[in-house]
Amino acid sequence: MSFVNKVLVAIGSGLKHVFLVKRFTLRYPQQRSVLYGDGYKYDPKEGVGIAGYRGRHILFTDKCTGCSLCFIMCQGISTAIEMIHLENIQVPVNKKSNFPQIDYTKCVYCGFCVDACPFYALVESNEYEIDAYDRESLIFTPEQLAIPPKTPKGTYDIEYEGGAHHRA
Ligand code: SF4
Ligand code: SF4
Repeated sequence: MSFVNKVLVAIGSGLKHVFLVKRFTLRYPQQRSVLYGDGYKYDPKEGVGIAGYRGRHILFTDKCTGCSLCFIMCQGISTAIEMIHLENIQVPVNKKSNFPQIDYTKCVYCGFCVDACPFYALVESNEYEIDAYDRESLIFTPEQLAIPPKTPKGTYDIEYEGGAHHRA
């Protein structure tokens, strides 16, 4: 392609995006994208991941056996999980009362800990707004992880046909 043609293609692409393509970026936090489903899950019996957003985890303490597989998995990634002993949570399937705690200053939201859990005890939610003024507040105890987040409703829908853009 000649230099002139390349310039014309670039100008054409620019004009197309100015007049034809809808703006893709959101005015966060006033605008938010819609997240479909409840978040990322893994079905260990079927051996398949269930697609969803990989945000803040939810721990089902009644299902957690304290097996530490999520902890072992995370050790090779970011050491975000620590197993801690809790006296105040008594679960028949978890005799030693050891549960995962997650440090969100380290977590990369890869979801491998969810994949590693054989007991449906760990999932990821749609919550992505995790902030604090100090690092300690970003370490979520098992009790905190057990409380489902209040995920804000999205205001914009995104479609992907012909390039990603908003339906609105
Ligand atoms: S999602 Fe976070 S806690 Fe889980 S394995 Fe990945 S880095 Fe570790
Ligand atoms: S969340 Fe799952 S993998 Fe982690 S300790 Fe509990 S049962 Fe084991």
